[in-house]
Amino acid sequence: MTYDHDNIFAKILRREIPSKIVYENEYILSFHDIAPIAPLHILAIPKTPYTDFSDFHQNADQNIIIQFYKGVEQTILALNLPNGYRLVSNKGESGGQEVPHYHVHILSGAQFSTKEMFKKAH
Ligand code: AMP
Repeated sequence: MTYDHDNIFAKILRREIPSKIVYENEYILSFHDIAPIAPLHILAIPKTPYTDFSDFHQNADQNIIIQFYKGVEQTILALNLPNGYRLVSNKGESGGQEVPHYHVHILSGAQFSTKEMFKKAH
């Protein structure tokens, strides 16, 4: 998939639309999801243009990948989540991805169960 520079997260990175930022450095921007599905729902996105998990891991420089995940951990530290959290990343139709800029959801403040997170596959 070709990267769409008009996707909503590209606009957030360019500050064309606002976001509630919780952590930022040279490599990553982390902000509140506009439609949270948990008491705490943060999105962490690399500042480089990749469409999804596979595109990021196949095509980004190693340092970009390492620094992104260090940034995810820095975000988690900044949020102070002693009871834990869940990380989610969606790709494609099966994954339910809506925004085509790679992102990791950080979910916390609720009791999640792996068994309940899937609708029946068809
Ligand atoms: P995904 O389905 O994994 O692509 O997730 C996209 C997420 O982006 C959804 O949880 C949306 O609620 C969220 N979202 C969409 N637009 C915005 C926005 N302008 N600011 C913050 N979050 C957004």
